[in-house]
Amino acid sequence: MDKIEDKWKSKLTPAQYRVLRQNGTEPAGSGQLLHNKESGVYTCAACGVELFSSANKYDSGSGWPSFDDVMNDTSVVLLPDDSLGMNRVEVECAQCGSHLGHLFDDGPKATTGKRYCINSLSLDFKPQAKQE
Ligand code: FE
Repeated sequence: MDKIEDKWKSKLTPAQYRVLRQNGTEPAGSGQLLHNKESGVYTCAACGVELFSSANKYDSGSGWPSFDDVMNDTSVVLLPDDSLGMNRVEVECAQCGSHLGHLFDDGPKATTGKRYCINSLSLDFKPQAKQE
C-alpha cells in the first residue's frame, strides 16, 4: 500500500474507503443522505470540494442519492467503466480522484435527462446558512 492510500485509510471510515478508494457501492437504501431534503451543498467526503447542489437533488427511487446535474462541470471527471459486465460511466472527484458513483441517461426529462447516481458515503453535506 502506498503512502497516499495510507493517508486515505486513516482519514476515512472503512466503509467510506471501500467506496471512495476501491470503487465500491453502498447497499441501496442505506445512505444517510439519501432522503436529505435540506438546502445546501454536497461535498466530496474525501477532499471536501463542492460537488452537487441540493437544487439538483431528486428522488430517483434507485436507493442512492440522485442529482440531475453537477454544480460545476470541472468538479467531476467521467470515465468509462466496463466492470461487472456493464457499460457504465463512472463519476470521480476531479480534485482527489475518489470514486463517487455513476452517471446514467435516465434522469428527469424535464431538466437534463441525466442521473448522477452517487453513494451517500462519498458525500458530506453543508447546510446553507439560514437567512433571517
Ligand atoms: Fe474529492
